[in-house]
Amino acid sequence: MTSKIFRSIFATSLVVLFATLAIITTFIYDYFTDIQIDQLKDELSIASVGTEQSGEEYLENLKSDNFRLTWIASDGTVLFDSQADKSAMDNHLDREEIREAFETGKGSSSRRSATLTEKTLYEAVLLSDGTVLRISVNRASGFVLLLGMMYPVIIVIIIAVIISAVLAHKMSKRIIEPLNKLDLDNPTENDAYEEIAPLLRRIHKQNMKIERKVAELNRRKDEFELITKNMREGLILLDKNRNILTINSAAMTIFSTDENCVGKEFLTINRRHEITSAIEKALTDGHAEIRAGLNEKEYQFDISRIETDGETVGAVILVFDITEQADAERLRREFTANVSHELKTPLQTITGSAELMENGLVKEEDIPRFIGHIREEATRLVTLVEDIIRLSQLDEQTELPKENVSLFEVANEACVVLRDSADKKDITLTVSGDGGNIYGVKHLLFEVIYNLCDNGIKYTPDGGKVEVDISETEKDVTLTVSDNGIGIAPQHHARIFERFYRVDKSHSKKSGGTGLGLSIVKHSVQYHGGKISLHSAENKGTSVLVVLPKIEQC
Ligand code: ATP
Ligand code: MG
Repeated sequence: MTSKIFRSIFATSLVVLFATLAIITTFIYDYFTDIQIDQLKDELSIASVGTEQSGEEYLENLKSDNFRLTWIASDGTVLFDSQADKSAMDNHLDREEIREAFETGKGSSSRRSATLTEKTLYEAVLLSDGTVLRISVNRASGFVLLLGMMYPVIIVIIIAVIISAVLAHKMSKRIIEPLNKLDLDNPTENDAYEEIAPLLRRIHKQNMKIERKVAELNRRKDEFELITKNMREGLILLDKNRNILTINSAAMTIFSTDENCVGKEFLTINRRHEITSAIEKALTDGHAEIRAGLNEKEYQFDISRIETDGETVGAVILVFDITEQADAERLRREFTANVSHELKTPLQTITGSAELMENGLVKEEDIPRFIGHIREEATRLVTLVEDIIRLSQLDEQTELPKENVSLFEVANEACVVLRDSADKKDITLTVSGDGGNIYGVKHLLFEVIYNLCDNGIKYTPDGGKVEVDISETEKDVTLTVSDNGIGIAPQHHARIFERFYRVDKSHSKKSGGTGLGLSIVKHSVQYHGGKISLHSAENKGTSVLVVLPKIEQC
């Protein structure tokens, strides 16, 4: 802008300079022409008096280099000429000034030379004898005059150009300076040019509008961030080029990435083919859903295309952690398969034995043994069905009646029931500790101790020992059931509480186990808000620790 103003001022100065020069030259030229004409007239009147008195002799004496005198007879013949041979001169009657002088007594005219560089001024007067005396002078044209003055003119022009340039530079700077100092954050507080006040008011209005818009956008952004930040689901927004626009903290954890991935391609955070092809499918078809495992977890990806005015602008990816759901589904599937299998085995034994007896293929003396088999398997079926019912009750989380229970007493009751089986294997079964008072569901707590002790007895060789210990703090009650039996190898620890999970299936089955005992124990402990842990080493023994909170104790 400064250079534009500079150019404008400079150009204006030059135009003014040349215009002034031209006008002044014209005026001066005209002024001096008038003076010269007056002088010519004066000299002509003097010469005319002299010529009337002395004739050609006077004219001969008056010869001058500055002007030319021509005397013309009434028929147009040249009688005398101060600068040319009169005999060589043609008739002058057709000359404008001569014709005028013959007609009116005075005549004047001017003619340019052929080269246009000179102009001749003529003045003529009619003498009393009927002849005409003419005086003329040559003078340079305005252009030639100017050329003659070229040297000073050039100096003037150079000085004027320099002054114009300096002034233009200073002025343009002075004009721009207040504009550069404008405070556009507070436009109305500026005191620059009156002319730009409307512009400043407009900027002020625009500023207010922008401020409001930015505040609104920030509010929305904060809102969006707050919502997405606290979402448990992962959320990723992609543009149509698959670049990440937004990613929330849950998604960052899922993909083990950080905020630096924003602006980069989705492929930089995950290259799994099934996920990228689901994104492509969603961008083409509008929606895609897939399940994929990441970092030992199972996720559901819900991908939808985002459209504006019918044009695809990107995609939104929602990631749900369905690990628990998938595990539950797997367990349910396994449970159903296991239940069917577990029910089938005793039922096959029962039908098989019954068929043999029905067809008379069993000897008379073997019949009691077969009936014993049928009874054993039927009892096993009943136990299995009872266990399943108990587990589904626990699954349903139905509210069961609670009461004040002493775990020490419950442990003693369980030991009374198990005493026979312990004695059969010559296993010492002891209960130590004190009260262990807790507000809970008695029969579930009984199940816990019964199952743990039952396992202790079942998986401890003859002559071993099973110890139950109860201790109590202000907040919770601790129950420990330990034995010195066969123990459990570490690789089974994680799965031991799963339904139907048995380390040694043949041994467990032989001992009438269904693999549901520890599962019922775990669920019963969880029902009471407690925790269960297993410490076991192969051939050394097992210790199960249960900690139950003393909630709502009355
Ligand atoms: P049941 O449903 O009759 O209890 P189970 O005893 O086989 O059958 P769980 O009590 O759930 O089933 O035990 C699961 C498995 O864990 C057992 O099959 C056994 O292999 C192992 N186990 C449990 N307790 C012990 C223990 N004290 N010592 C060694 N192994 C054990
Ligand atoms: Mg058991």
